[in-house]
Amino acid sequence: MTAVLPLFSFLPPRRAESLTHVEHVPPRAGAVAPWPDWTPPLLRSAFTARGVDQPWTHQATAAHLAWSGTHTVIATGTGSGKSLAYQLPLLSSLLTDDKATALYLSPTKALAADQLRSLHGLDLPGVRPAGYDGDTPREERDWVRQHARVVLTNPDMLHHGILPNHASWARFLRGLRFVVVDECHTYRGVFGSHVAHVLRRLRRVTARYTPRGLSGPCFILASATSGDPQASGSRLVGLPMAAVTEDASPRGGVTFALWEPPLLPPAPDSLASLRSLPSLPSSASLPPLDDGSVALDATFAVRDAEPVRRSALRETADLLTDAVVAGVRTLAFVRSRKGAELVASMARRSLNHAVPGLGERVAAYRAGYLREERRALERDLMDGTLLGLASTNALELGVDLVGLDAVLISGYPGTLASLWQQAGRAGRAGRDALCVLVARDDPLDTYLVHHPEALFGKPVEATVLDPANPHVLAPQLCCAAAELPLTPADLPLFGPTAESTLDALVAAGILRRRPSGWYWTERQRPDVDLRGAGGGPVAVVEESTGRLLGTVDTGSAHHQVHTGAVHLHQGTAYVVDKLDLADSVALVHAEEPDWSTHPRDVTSLTVLSVRQTRTAGPVTLSLGEVEVTSQVVSYQRRRISSGEVIDTCQLDLPERILKTVAVWWTVSPEALDEAGIPEVDWPGALHAAEHASIGLLPLVATCDRWDIGGLSTALHADTALPTVFVYDGHPGGAGFAERAFDVATDWLAATRTVVAECRCEQGCPSCVQSPKCGNGNNPLNKHDAVQVLSLVLSAL
Ligand SMILES: [Zn+2]
Ligand SMILES: [Zn+2]
Repeated sequence: MTAVLPLFSFLPPRRAESLTHVEHVPPRAGAVAPWPDWTPPLLRSAFTARGVDQPWTHQATAAHLAWSGTHTVIATGTGSGKSLAYQLPLLSSLLTDDKATALYLSPTKALAADQLRSLHGLDLPGVRPAGYDGDTPREERDWVRQHARVVLTNPDMLHHGILPNHASWARFLRGLRFVVVDECHTYRGVFGSHVAHVLRRLRRVTARYTPRGLSGPCFILASATSGDPQASGSRLVGLPMAAVTEDASPRGGVTFALWEPPLLPPAPDSLASLRSLPSLPSSASLPPLDDGSVALDATFAVRDAEPVRRSALRETADLLTDAVVAGVRTLAFVRSRKGAELVASMARRSLNHAVPGLGERVAAYRAGYLREERRALERDLMDGTLLGLASTNALELGVDLVGLDAVLISGYPGTLASLWQQAGRAGRAGRDALCVLVARDDPLDTYLVHHPEALFGKPVEATVLDPANPHVLAPQLCCAAAELPLTPADLPLFGPTAESTLDALVAAGILRRRPSGWYWTERQRPDVDLRGAGGGPVAVVEESTGRLLGTVDTGSAHHQVHTGAVHLHQGTAYVVDKLDLADSVALVHAEEPDWSTHPRDVTSLTVLSVRQTRTAGPVTLSLGEVEVTSQVVSYQRRRISSGEVIDTCQLDLPERILKTVAVWWTVSPEALDEAGIPEVDWPGALHAAEHASIGLLPLVATCDRWDIGGLSTALHADTALPTVFVYDGHPGGAGFAERAFDVATDWLAATRTVVAECRCEQGCPSCVQSPKCGNGNNPLNKHDAVQVLSLVLSAL
């Protein structure tokens, strides 16, 4: 392989077994289309002056659809010119109708600022673009409301600033022709569900100002490539959509290597701990096994699970070293700040060992650095002073750093969109670039490096959201009613559960029902935060200085910042002195102890209602509402170096109740018997299957394993059968379990494959061990998990 690919020459041949796949993504010549005949000549020459002689075919197709009034989502690769696809119809409309206006929404201020610069740069008369966000000075806000024709803002500002004051936006709303929702794949989960309602509120308020006979604005959505953008887009806006997914922009070739760090020989202590496992009681007497601990800090994962593979960080540092020795300019993406610094310092050390002074050509780059420091590092990398940079995803968006020889990605960044964004940093004109994805010890990473079709084939990962979540719908209906009283005619806009939700709000005295509709009667507007659901966050405060380090969701505070917990914040360790639930504050001090903490919880789950069900022989798959009750009861302290348990400390924390949506499957005892799985192994088999399936859910839905929880049991009170539950870790559900139900076969097949193919003996973090198990990864039975999953799959 090294002979064919000069860039591979730095990969040492002795590690060829780590290379699980090489994909050549060939260069693609672009395909252009003529400018649409409705393009005003002025606009065409503005684009030409910018170097765009003709649009790519996907840009022209999307622009045509939008111009003809079809709501459109364009889902193509990074750098494929999605902005031209929406700028073309939007600006054409503004240039030909002096009353027309347009709204542009982006998830970040930086992106809106970029877009504003781009529009100003076109220098078109009368277009008057303006940003409108929390930083816009008051005097400028008046000007924007009265005169701007393209307003660039974000969903939070639309929700807090624009919609509640719609009367002062009457001119703008009356002229509204186009609404652009950029990077729409970032609107997922609970936040995405809120944004979906903000857009519905925008549609409703706009309709009030739109002259009779005119339809509402046309929505243009821009998305990263993903599974089923048409369905996700429709769900986000609540309107049928056309999708443009064929990317016709040119790109350079990339050689993409998938890399799995080698297994290490087991350490003597971990053998000892295996031997000390208690013998298992029979399945029926065991409590259910849970993973109720939702949203623990992902950095804990690194410390928690006993490593059996060489760490992805160490592998990345070695690859970076080899690349720098070979003179290859390389950027390494690492998920945590501490990780980025570790990779840089390990590489520096090895380089200085090989050639004194060579280590100086590698540096770390992360968000905490000052702007000037970052600019200097970028400059040094571009001019070759630096050969290697280890970075967090601070570089992922916004910074114009392209044209490197190679990119190393340490651990799958969570979504295909991020993966391609990071990979896109490599490649100089006319030259192939190299990209290496280094797998972490995690079922999803393991699956991906052995199943390249999931990365390079048609994407299956879809952006999910659930506008029907009652914890989102109820507050959003209050916001809508405060903007304009709700009438029965408005109900279809907010979905089939809107009426019953309104009835509940009336019964609770929050809204008032009058003959003409539903009214918000408080003087103050409803206080709704788009980025949270239920309960305020717990503040993490350094006791000696009073400094606020950050916040932790109420849902995971008991697990993450209980008294005595070691809490990692941006790579620095803190020990929690006290979790004060009454004040929602955790008091901490900085300390780097040589132990880590592992919460244990007791979780039970009740099925409240069943929405959908599919029975196939001995297997039943269901989707429905559940109530999860969990209590963090104790934590273990374990030596970091050896994993040895130091002690177990009791905690006195109240139970927490989560009403949410779950997907679950049951399998009959007879079928388990027939499959030859002894009853004593059922709990371990189901538990292992549950862990692996949680790990693989992000393959089909844009979530991470910290967004979901699970529970498995050999006998569940509500199903009266062996059952595995996987639930959304957010009150009311966020769409993850629902997506899992819809694509259950794909999801469970990938789960089975990753467990069956893992070369470990007893189960490891790459397959069935979970870093957030509330039961200390016990019991787990990898071999029987494969049997159970095969049984489920053959039935479904
Ligand atoms: Zn394994
Ligand atoms: Zn578990």
